[in-house]
Formats: sequence, C-alpha cells, structure tokens
Amino acid sequence: MEDCIFCKIIKKEIPSDIVYQDENVIAFKDINPQAPIHIIVIPKIHIKSVLEADKETIGMIFQAINKIANQEKIEKTGFRVITNCGKNAGQTVEHLHFHILAGRELDEKIC
Ligand code: 5GP
Ligand code: ZN
Repeated sequence: MEDCIFCKIIKKEIPSDIVYQDENVIAFKDINPQAPIHIIVIPKIHIKSVLEADKETIGMIFQAINKIANQEKIEKTGFRVITNCGKNAGQTVEHLHFHILAGRELDEKIC
C-alpha cells in the first residue's frame, strides 16, 4: 500500500535494521525501542490489523516469532508479544505488526 510506512520498509524504500526475513514475513528493530530488544514482526502483504488477518498469516508470523526468539537467544529468559488494534490500543501504523519485547524484566502491567 502506497502510504504505508511498513510497506515502504518491505520494499526497502526506507531503511530498517532487519533481523529476520522469509518469504512471507519480515522483522526489524523498532526505531523507538521500549526495551533492550524491541523487534517489529510483520507480514509482507498489507493487512490493516488483527481484524483483517487470516489464520495462515497469523500462523506464519508466530512461526517467525519462534525462530526470532531462538536467534536472539531470548527463548529461555522470556519475552512479550504485543499487537495493538485500533485507536484505544494506540495503533499508530495500520499494517498488522507484532512487537517482541525482551532483554530485561518487563513491567507487570501491560495496560
Ligand atoms: P504501534 O504503536 O502502531 O503498535 O507500533 C508502531 C511501532 O512502529 C512503534 O513502536 C514505532 O516506534 C515503530 N515505527 C514507526 N515508524 C517506524 C520506522 O520507520 N522504522 C522502524 N524501525 N520502526 C518504526
Ligand atoms: Zn503496509
């Protein structure tokens, strides 16, 4: 989608620090990290949010998250996966994405 910042990252029109990619999924470091490890995982096709996501895409994303957790060596220490949907959740980029947060003990509260 033309005006989507994450689609531009996929097309390499804007730079990003890519940590993982396969045929369907790409993952890169968040530009404004909230934890020592903060990775954004997205499908390569433009899907607005979880409301539009199909189970195949969700499955591929979580398969990628599993691989990234091993790659980043956070599978033992633990990590958090978050997706925001819509205004009240604070979704600022309307391209389905999952945050992986790790690298320190995370806050107990998630809201
Ligand atoms: P949201 O608030 O929509 O759930 O999360 C969007 C995330 O994307 C934010 O954490 C924000 O820092 C990140 N982000 C926004 N624009 C860019 C960008 O151009 N590059 C990278 N690497 N991250 C971005
Ligand atoms: Zn997009």
